[in-house]
Amino acid sequence: ELLKGQAPKGFKWRPSRVHVIGAGTMGADIAGVCVASGMEVTLQDISAEQLEKGIKAQGKLFARKFKMKPARDAAKARLIADPEGKGISRADVVIEAIVERLDVKQKLFADLETKIKPGAVLATNTSSLKLEDIASPLKDPGRLIGLHFFSPVAQMPLVEVVRGANTRDEEVKKGAAFVTAIDKFPLITKDVPGFLVNKVLTPYMFAAMKRLEEGEDKEKIDEAARTFGMPMGPIELADNVGLDICAHVAKILGQSSEGSRLDRLVASGRLGKKTGEGFYVWK
Ligand code: NAD
Repeated sequence: ELLKGQAPKGFKWRPSRVHVIGAGTMGADIAGVCVASGMEVTLQDISAEQLEKGIKAQGKLFARKFKMKPARDAAKARLIADPEGKGISRADVVIEAIVERLDVKQKLFADLETKIKPGAVLATNTSSLKLEDIASPLKDPGRLIGLHFFSPVAQMPLVEVVRGANTRDEEVKKGAAFVTAIDKFPLITKDVPGFLVNKVLTPYMFAAMKRLEEGEDKEKIDEAARTFGMPMGPIELADNVGLDICAHVAKILGQSSEGSRLDRLVASGRLGKKTGEGFYVWK
């Protein structure tokens, strides 16, 4: 059901306001990409520091996308820090990108349902939790979709639109229309572990890590993948995604020994780009 970047036929729905919750690796960049496509975005996080950092980080994307200062300034003005979530009730699309914990997400969604406007899309960026479980406290669980972005968000053209066991068709269509409106390609997937991309990509990344353990240089592995045509090598990709997230995904896909090996790096504070060191040093 690859829609090839086309909005669903005959489906006229164009969102203009987005609210993103979680300004970490994913949420801040999702917000930036929506702003770069002309939308107005309110961004929320429980950490004021993270919120500021996440907004500041979008400067690079805006500078790349908008060469003229007035357009750049207008983009900056469309990205609004919203620690209290005032934008929730006005948003056409609400995207959750907070910590990957079921109880925390459930609590958040139960609250969101009471605040969002009728017809707004309610989406989670979860990588591994079942939509059915996240939606279980909702009065209307049929409205929750997955919008699974990939890191780095600005460079990755694909977004998986996840249809949970109870998700209504209409919501999936709106999700696909939204993804098209931010100039990305929607891939509608079922709610199975790893969805489609991680299921295929994770074994490739772990095979690369195994070569590394066997004594191959990480630079050489990454260069080989890039020369082959990948936008970045698998080791660098792991550092981008975050080794904690990789460990988590490995476990849900049944690759527990690979997950445990990554856990050791995570325990020593090496989480990848976000902590300044993973397989590579990024400081
Ligand atoms: P992160 O740790 O970088 O960011 C999470 C942010 O959420 C933090 O800034 C934290 O302060 C904030 N937060 C936590 N609880 C909150 C709450 N109740 N309300 C508001 N803010 C809250 O995590 P991330 O890597 O951006 O991942 C976020 C989500 O996206 C997870 O569900 C993850 O599985 C998913 N995801 C991650 C990747 C990736 O490559 N990192 C890819 C696809 C999906």
